[in-house]
Amino acid sequence: MSFASLDLHPYIIQRVTELGYSAPTPIQLAAIPVVLSGKDVMAGAQTGTGKTAAFALPLLQKIQLAKQSKDSEDIQALILTPTRELAQQVHASFEKYSTNLPIKSVVAYGGASINVQLEALRKGCDMLVATPGRLLELIMKDLIDLNGLKTLVLDEADRMLDMGFIIDIKRILKKLPESRQTLFFSATFNDDIFALSKSLLNSPQLIEVDSRNTTATKVEQTIYAVDQDRKSALLSFLIGSKNWQQVLIFTRTKLGADELAKEMQKDGIATQAIHGDKSQGARDRVLSDFKAGKVRALIATDVAARGIDIEQLHYVVNHELPYNAEDYIHRIGRTGRAGTTGLAISLVAEKEHYLLNDIEKLVGEQFIPQWLPGFEPDLNKIMSPKKRREPSKKELRAKALGLTSPKAKAPKKRRR
Ligand code: AMP
Repeated sequence: MSFASLDLHPYIIQRVTELGYSAPTPIQLAAIPVVLSGKDVMAGAQTGTGKTAAFALPLLQKIQLAKQSKDSEDIQALILTPTRELAQQVHASFEKYSTNLPIKSVVAYGGASINVQLEALRKGCDMLVATPGRLLELIMKDLIDLNGLKTLVLDEADRMLDMGFIIDIKRILKKLPESRQTLFFSATFNDDIFALSKSLLNSPQLIEVDSRNTTATKVEQTIYAVDQDRKSALLSFLIGSKNWQQVLIFTRTKLGADELAKEMQKDGIATQAIHGDKSQGARDRVLSDFKAGKVRALIATDVAARGIDIEQLHYVVNHELPYNAEDYIHRIGRTGRAGTTGLAISLVAEKEHYLLNDIEKLVGEQFIPQWLPGFEPDLNKIMSPKKRREPSKKELRAKALGLTSPKAKAPKKRRR
């Protein structure tokens, strides 16, 4: 199937062709006709599947047609995103797709000057991409008029709930026209997501391109069992020995991100960390250095990494597993984007095995942790004194034969 078969206007087709998109992705194939038809959509699509274009292309077409028939000053589409990085990225996508169209997209997020955003709004705005907090501020201060809104998009709705935006979202919804089209995108689904979608959507068309809660199909996933205090050494070893040039690494905490960055810098790897304590300017600089190849390893917390879209990012490493299993799906979705392949490596210490169990349950897949020679977990260290035992004959034999390679065996059984 081609873009031409999707009833898209020739100027949109020309633009995606210029961008090198040869065919629509599955989410685009499924969603574009429904969005064009005006129906509400509830879509299960993770990041990297081309979901932004799935709503951006038909929205641009609708706005362009509306503008041709009536000269309207109204904000016609509102896209809510959980983080400023994602907001910037969605806005950049709109700009990319609407080159040569007289459509104005504005982005508004917290942590940056509201005056600059207001100035942009004053110059005219057809589509607004915003994070909930800043949008609410604009609404409450009566600085924005959303009465002419035709379409609301909730992007990464699951993440918005995780980040505690539900109250903000409900307050925003009260200020939007009731008669509108709503498009609801979420990478994962749970009861809270269904409850929110029910309150928002009107006879939606359900679109699922991947089965729910699945990990990106083109991402190879490897789990290394390793002691906590050996993780940074193993990471530097992998990056150095395999000559990885662009690696995105996840830690659970900001402090953890900074400490790991220091360790890796000591190992001679150009590393930077981004997290919520860094200013927007600093985050943007680090990200562009990473994209330009000046920074080899980028360490990020889950929140800071939202919206990072790097073409050809092949390597994602979980230095620590996330407490929330759904974050695992989001993390590894940073690679294997739009059809490229990727490798996601998770470094798992003994005490994290319960988190691995949660991930396995969510994605419906069982992983076999591997040992990397030279970084095998210290069995004496990881077992409680009660459980500590002499190695079995099989283990002694494997050790004597040097059979501690990944394929040789998995570490001791995980607790279930
Ligand atoms: P998204 O899932 O929206 O974050 O998109 C992931 C990446 O896929 C972005 O870099 C897009 O530019 C790219 N992309 C979107 N649609 C297509 C397509 N039909 N063909 C090739 N790349 C695409």
